[in-house]
Amino acid sequence: VAEEKHQRSKMPVYPGLERFTLLEKMGDGAFSNVYKAHDTKDDRVIAVKVVRKYELNAHQRANILKEVQIMRQLKHPGIVQLYDFSESDEYYYLVMELAPGGELFHRVVKLTYFSEELTRHVIVQVAQAIRYLHEERGVVHRDIKPENILFEAIPIIPSLPGFKPDEEDKEDEGIFQPGLGGGGIGRVKIADFGLSKVVWDEQTMTPCGTVGYTAPEIVKDERYSKSVDMWAMGCVLYTLLCGFPPFYDESIQALTEKVARGQFTFLSPWWDDISSEAKDLISHLLCVNPDERYTIDQFLHHPWIRSGESPIQSNTVSEISTAMSTPTFAENKTLTSVAAMTSDYG
Ligand code: ATP
Repeated sequence: VAEEKHQRSKMPVYPGLERFTLLEKMGDGAFSNVYKAHDTKDDRVIAVKVVRKYELNAHQRANILKEVQIMRQLKHPGIVQLYDFSESDEYYYLVMELAPGGELFHRVVKLTYFSEELTRHVIVQVAQAIRYLHEERGVVHRDIKPENILFEAIPIIPSLPGFKPDEEDKEDEGIFQPGLGGGGIGRVKIADFGLSKVVWDEQTMTPCGTVGYTAPEIVKDERYSKSVDMWAMGCVLYTLLCGFPPFYDESIQALTEKVARGQFTFLSPWWDDISSEAKDLISHLLCVNPDERYTIDQFLHHPWIRSGESPIQSNTVSEISTAMSTPTFAENKTLTSVAAMTSDYG
């Protein structure tokens, strides 16, 4: 209680945000801080993104309002929900559903890599959220990466055989419990719609613009936009399975060329024991020609995805436990290369 009070006393005070008691800082972006906060009116814990309006130019301000407008239309279990939006002279406030489990990015760094089963469990949830965005809302996210995929925490059950995370890993214990929280182990949610874009009109179910007068490149543009998210999904999938990204080079120029050529490999020994179905799926996502790249429906129908339709196995727990104690041969590489991939996948 004393620690909690101490934390609260260090929190900034924002005009117009008196209804919320800020509890802790969850993350930050270029112009914003995200706090966990107690909503005293509705008596619930939420996340509030405080954007420093005074640091933004007119274009950037318009982008925040666009992000809000897009988020307002979205309601899906795999997407962080926007509850409310308000502003003061100096700040924008986005009151959102809290995803207290932290970024997928941190989980990969911590666990080195995920088992195929756990990877499938996470990526299917991301895919279902993307399917909702692409097919039901006409929205492309354009910034899918492990930092923008957040875990929802799940209650901890202490006595699971063969799985004893240390004290400081309590949060992991909660997240990786199988068979809990209705949907099995940890649910994930997509956040950060700062770069997202509406590609078709919800009312007319056509590309934005006047029906019948839409040029072919606009129609194609819509398809290309969606395929950007599919490429990023391929990068996330690759990274989850081995612990390092498919494209990496210390030189930005060399990295750009590798991406442009779609030049990646399933590096030995890391990929030796990973199934050929998983590799096949990745190859259909990291495909340079967007016309040939899998759509979200093709992704969801792929055999590697379908093979996981039975409930998650309890041996995933020991697989994760193994992953946590994996020798550091991959870890050091992972820490540098995963940390280096904070750039946009899209
Ligand atoms: P960037 O400049 O990196 O794009 P941003 O200003 O757009 O960031 P977000 O990506 O929305 O901000 O949030 C920054 C970080 O705050 C996230 O990566 C995450 O760690 C944390 N965060 C954001 N939303 C939530 C949430 N709803 N629940 C918990 N943590 C969150």
